[in-house]
Amino acid sequence: MKLVRFGPRGAERPGIIDGEGRLRDLSSHVKDIAGEVLLPASLARLSDIDPARLPLVEGTPRIGACVVQVGKMVCVGLNYSDHAPESGMGVPSEPVLFFKATSAIVGPDDDVEIPPGAAKVDWEVELGVVIGKPVRYVSKDQAMQHVAGYCVVNDVSERAYQLERGGTWDKGKGCDTFGPMGPWLVTRDEIPDPQALAMWLDVDGRRFQDGSTRTMVFDVPTLVSYISQFMSLQPGDVISTGTPPGVGLGQKPPVYLKPGQTMRLGIQGLGEQQQRTVAARIGDKQ
Ligand code: ZN
Repeated sequence: MKLVRFGPRGAERPGIIDGEGRLRDLSSHVKDIAGEVLLPASLARLSDIDPARLPLVEGTPRIGACVVQVGKMVCVGLNYSDHAPESGMGVPSEPVLFFKATSAIVGPDDDVEIPPGAAKVDWEVELGVVIGKPVRYVSKDQAMQHVAGYCVVNDVSERAYQLERGGTWDKGKGCDTFGPMGPWLVTRDEIPDPQALAMWLDVDGRRFQDGSTRTMVFDVPTLVSYISQFMSLQPGDVISTGTPPGVGLGQKPPVYLKPGQTMRLGIQGLGEQQQRTVAARIGDKQ
């Protein structure tokens, strides 16, 4: 199943993509794509619905983040064997974890705001893993039973905030709009091997990232198991699993985003995103 949220920001409705790629309104069955709707029994109920019997959504509405009420967004750093070197850092012996503020989450095609004075805004196409069942202290063997599905994440990052301002990486990861997520939550059954997905990202038509989840250092079951040793995970939590090479920081000289540019990115089987960069206006609220 490809689950989706559509409509104006803050008033999205749940939807499903039918076999012909058309958007169908799911709001007669669930209120939203969040929390307990992601539990295995609930997803099984949704998969029994014939999408052809659901109302067709006309036009091309805005697409929202594919999951709402995300309790936490746990990100994994330096998790691609071919990306760690371009960052000037080695491949870590254990997963590097940091958080992205959930207030950063936006729809897959929403504008990405450059914060006032920010000069090193960068991109990172990533495989997002959406938790579907509460879990803690889980073994690697049992971990996947707790995954509802996958989505595309752009882990937008401000490198000066992340690396030059002291402390942890979190300052450069949580700015408003730094977490485009979607277009779809693709359920786990549709992606038999999450470690064999092509992934790419273009800026203004130039391909910067052209990788595969194959070069992940710690695979999805390992990450779910590892993270669950330090915190419990709940339905709707998201793990963003790291980025392949080709980020702006890794270019020689580095390349960073300015207002007026366009990012396009995608992962095999999970759909595509497109964001325009704009200057954040002081005083604006999301
Ligand atoms: Zn990242």
